[in-house]
Amino acid sequence: MEHVSLPPLCHLAICGGTHGNEMSGVYMVREMQKQNVDRVGSVSITTVLSNPRAVDACRRYIDTDLNRCFTSELMSAPVTDSTPYELRRAHELNAQLGPKESREGVDLLCDIHNTTSNMGLCLIFYSLDCVPLHIFKYIQSKMTSTPVRAIQLDEPKSEAFSLESVGKHGFALEVGPQPNGVLRADIYNMVKQAIDLCIEWIQGFNSGSTFEGGEVEVYTWVKNVDYPRDPTTKEITAAIHPQLQDNDFKLLRPGDPTFLTFFGETVKYEGEELYPYFVNENAYYEKAIAFQLGKKISKTLPSISMKRD
Ligand SMILES: [Zn+2]
Repeated sequence: MEHVSLPPLCHLAICGGTHGNEMSGVYMVREMQKQNVDRVGSVSITTVLSNPRAVDACRRYIDTDLNRCFTSELMSAPVTDSTPYELRRAHELNAQLGPKESREGVDLLCDIHNTTSNMGLCLIFYSLDCVPLHIFKYIQSKMTSTPVRAIQLDEPKSEAFSLESVGKHGFALEVGPQPNGVLRADIYNMVKQAIDLCIEWIQGFNSGSTFEGGEVEVYTWVKNVDYPRDPTTKEITAAIHPQLQDNDFKLLRPGDPTFLTFFGETVKYEGEELYPYFVNENAYYEKAIAFQLGKKISKTLPSISMKRD
């Protein structure tokens, strides 16, 4: 069976507040900073509040979505007086934690997010990177009381738009359901446990342990579904159907209800069987996404250990 060996993961960055109203990451980072957590065993840790102005305002962002700013094209564009705040901040973060696609970047970047959708704990990462997949497998095996899932994005690294793409390896931790601007202890504890397990996995990796490979299930994006809209005003004419609400990752079959119109009509799903997620995510109303649909695929993960030389 295939085996991968990689250099030790010496530098971990933990980021929160990339979206300023997603409170688990904001408080996790603040707490780690209060306790001066900058090293655990073999791992040096940098904690970052990614979007401090949005955190102060308790908004997702000030000018534009920070977590869409990290493509190689945007990172190489010059910063001017008219550059939006988040894009300027993205350049600062790229200088601090990257630069993206360089040898200087942090070894692993974990960016903490919340969703208003009932998604449990998800690791979201770009394909071809087996480090987050191993961490996912480890967390999934230890956190048995929580649904732990992986969503794989298929963009090449240069087109990867989110903060975790600045590190050599990275993933977003997406945890919900939690309303924006609200802290829930159950969700906070899930995040805390996942971060602790991530650090534990890195310690094991850096001390020479081999982590066995095997089959893992991941979700890959197929398409977005918008709300039904009035053709003239473009206003939404329906809400997520109660039978779909909170049923993220439950297979959607043709004929299953998706929306309930404001005059009481049920809109049924048409198309191939797929898995819905980010169902009724607050931040996606402005992106015209009612939910996303993905496929569940099985991936063969090679075993992994540290390169000794
Ligand atoms: Zn977020």
